[in-house]
Amino acid sequence: MATFKAMVIEKTDGGTKAALTDFDEANLMDGDVTVRVEYSTVNYKDGLAITGKGPVVRRFPMIAGVDFAGTVETSSHPNWKPGDKVILNGWGCGETHLGAYAEKARVKGDWLVALPSSMSMHDAMAIGTAGYTAMLALMALERHGLTPERGPIAVTGAAGGVGSVAVAILAQRGFTVHAVTGRTEEADYLKSLGATEIVSRAELAGTPRPLAKERWAGAIDSVGSTTLANLLSMSRYGGAVAACGLAGGMDLPATVAPFILRGVCLYGIDSVMCPLPQRQEAWKRLETDLDRRKLAQITRDIGMADLAEAANAILAGHVRGRIVVKIG
Ligand code: NDP
Repeated sequence: MATFKAMVIEKTDGGTKAALTDFDEANLMDGDVTVRVEYSTVNYKDGLAITGKGPVVRRFPMIAGVDFAGTVETSSHPNWKPGDKVILNGWGCGETHLGAYAEKARVKGDWLVALPSSMSMHDAMAIGTAGYTAMLALMALERHGLTPERGPIAVTGAAGGVGSVAVAILAQRGFTVHAVTGRTEEADYLKSLGATEIVSRAELAGTPRPLAKERWAGAIDSVGSTTLANLLSMSRYGGAVAACGLAGGMDLPATVAPFILRGVCLYGIDSVMCPLPQRQEAWKRLETDLDRRKLAQITRDIGMADLAEAANAILAGHVRGRIVVKIG
């Protein structure tokens, strides 16, 4: 029996339980490409899955982990051959399909993106789903027509994973970035990534007014709830908000006033089922529009044995930037 180490989530009477386990390769799910996983990451969703605090996992047992970088071992898919270096984000991995915290993954070749040639696997997972999502959000704002001349862009949850990458890539594109954070002690960190102004989370925590003073031409929001409602009401005429997260809650206590009186647009960002051409564009852009020194600055490394602790920390909002997980 060939086994490998994996972080496996089992159903229990009271909920779920995650543990590092020897997993039998014969139990991998169907797929036309088998990948030797080298790096993964810890995203907010991984925190929910490992702790069982959110209904992320919909098949048991499940190998957790929504993204990986690795090397193709075997393939019957026309696009991939042994030795190819690949990235996977989402498509239900770690939710409905056995995921990334394992030395091996068997997936559909249609889900994979080639590792950009100038990027290491470690870089790719330092970016991870959080960073790729930040890029999808920036692409949505640019498609809307936002340019640096239109005014400042707010980034909420700025010291987190999506937020840190969003600050860095917006600044690199020449935007003026206002970082909204509950950790104002991280001001130096956020400024080093390119933020010009630090805004306390409290300024977006009050009961949202239908229309508030116009502040931002656009925003990338990973918080949701009252924060997102306030961002909408504080958007400038013709502005746009890209909503990608719910770290502050899933509700949206907003009115239609910003949409119908200021022409504000709300864009939904989904990384999981995002079509392949958009993914490929996002990863291509990440190759050029994210300063690797900044990426190194926002990243710390852990091993598989540290996953449970990291899962708790990310849900508590204690993780700064990104975590890379060395697999194996
Ligand atoms: P992180 O935990 O790294 O970042 C979230 C940040 O949000 C925290 O660091 C904190 O930033 C802020 N925050 C946390 N709790 C609250 C709160 N109660 N109220 C206000 N702000 C809060 O997570 P990620 O960056 O990995 O993910 C962020 C969100 O984006 C998650 O909800 C995640 O599920 C979602 N996501 C969605 C994707 C998609 O496809 N749509 C893909 C990836 C992530 P600070 O301390 O600076 O205020």
